[in-house]
Amino acid sequence: MTSIDGLKESLIHAGRILAAEGQGDLIFGHVTARLPNDSEHFLMKPHDFGLEEITPDNLITVNLEGEKVAGESRRHIEVFIHSEILRARPDLGAVVHTHAPYAVAFSALGRSLQGVGHEGAMFHKGIPVFSETADLIIDQTRGKAVARALADSDVLIMRNHGIVTAGRTIEEATVLALYLERACKAQLMVESCGGARHVCSHEDAVAKAGRILPQSPRVFDYLVRQVSSGS
Ligand SMILES: [Zn+2]
Repeated sequence: MTSIDGLKESLIHAGRILAAEGQGDLIFGHVTARLPNDSEHFLMKPHDFGLEEITPDNLITVNLEGEKVAGESRRHIEVFIHSEILRARPDLGAVVHTHAPYAVAFSALGRSLQGVGHEGAMFHKGIPVFSETADLIIDQTRGKAVARALADSDVLIMRNHGIVTAGRTIEEATVLALYLERACKAQLMVESCGGARHVCSHEDAVAKAGRILPQSPRVFDYLVRQVSSGS
């Protein structure tokens, strides 16, 4: 079982990785992880700081109502994305929400993601799209709608807004966010040249996903080394 200190360290790494990969949006975007041995509460990146600025001391603790119960920092107004997904999906331990720029641009095309390369193939089951609003998710009602749109998927595109990825761990959710952004970038490149003439077959996509997705913990460790090498 992960300790709370270990969980905080993972969230700090996740924030730095997402920022290094271009998913920071000033102080916006957030990562959360359910507390060990306490399914009703989760740690959350604080408002007022960039994703790369999370520390053990500025993380806040929030309950499934979206209320801050511990920590000095302000809470993100979009907390309900996290609280309602974690309420609806007891199998999940972590949620990432960013305004990933390539994914946002891709969402405006209204097209389905294709298996242009390895990353696109990871999402061969299809990606649900939340299109009820492009506004911020500022209450439980909208948070529940996002959770319904996610359903039993691990990824969600929020049209003209951003992405949600989720996992049993923050490591899984973070790596998924990177794959999704890279998949959207690859397809945007292809779309700008007239669209794909060839994409991965479903059979190949399933095989690739089966080989690559289980490597997420090793990929996360690599990314930690990358963001730590200059510090
Ligand atoms: Zn947002």
